[in-house]
Amino acid sequence: MVNYVTKEGIAAELSSYASFYECMRLRSEWGQHGFLDAHWEGNTCLTPFTVLGRYHSNGFGQCSRLNREMFTDEDRAAMPPVMTDEEFQTFLDQHVRPRITGPFYATHEGVSGNAPAFLLPPPHLLCARCGGGWELDTCHDIDAEGSYDYVIQPEDSMSVSRYNFYHGACFREHKSERLVQEEADSIEGLTQMFEEAGFEDVRIARRPLPKRCLALFAGDLKQSEVNQIVTEIPYYRVNAKQGYFGLLLAPFPLLDLAGTGISQRELEPELAKEIPPDFPPIAYFSGDSEQLVRLSQLMLKQRQKSKKRSRKNKKSK
Ligand SMILES: [Zn+2]
Repeated sequence: MVNYVTKEGIAAELSSYASFYECMRLRSEWGQHGFLDAHWEGNTCLTPFTVLGRYHSNGFGQCSRLNREMFTDEDRAAMPPVMTDEEFQTFLDQHVRPRITGPFYATHEGVSGNAPAFLLPPPHLLCARCGGGWELDTCHDIDAEGSYDYVIQPEDSMSVSRYNFYHGACFREHKSERLVQEEADSIEGLTQMFEEAGFEDVRIARRPLPKRCLALFAGDLKQSEVNQIVTEIPYYRVNAKQGYFGLLLAPFPLLDLAGTGISQRELEPELAKEIPPDFPPIAYFSGDSEQLVRLSQLMLKQRQKSKKRSRKNKKSK
């Protein structure tokens, strides 16, 4: 019988990830099913423990992870395998608090009192990216991603949640790959949209957000905030046979018309009365075909105008 109740009992179960997992699972099962019975018989909750310097199991066996950012490998190695809450507090006060200068962040991941936000993967599950498993000394380095898959067809539908587990580094790679793919899909969709509106030879490329765009809506921000906006807001340059313009995909998407010679008044003639004459060359990007067809025609006109001008200039020379 696995002793998942006492300090010594738990310590004796920490020979492998599988036995650690089983111990934590039994505590959680007791919390879900055994607690009510035990409670009525006059018993109290389980004694909470910090296990392996990595996880805390509370009185209901709910498992939360010690904040991976706050505790270092040295901390984890220095903590005894099983600690009471008092012992953990002492460790925190002696080893962790003194070196934290800024605000003292949450020591645990997950919301106290709620079901744990983090699931331990059963020992047979492997990292969905590299196929490797977890050991006692890496069992804090876990990320999970849930998804819902419909399994029963079609009127009688129901869903089950499914989790993939990853090593921390594998998870970061997985997420950045997906971002790259999502961006490629979005560029493909935009290219098609512009071509359907009459633009030819459309090429769209990501560019850093130009300072003039930033100045429009973030004039008085701190440099750190500016840097964050510049990296987070996707800005694209759209090149076509008709010319080029910018596309700012913020929650309120904008067309950057600087350098096109086109103003918002021309692009949105129905709003012209409300737009001041000195309004910067920027317009709300509605994505509807009427707006895009007009933009493509206006750009073509501009191109013809500038060709005429350059011919005139040549003649006058
Ligand atoms: Zn991995």
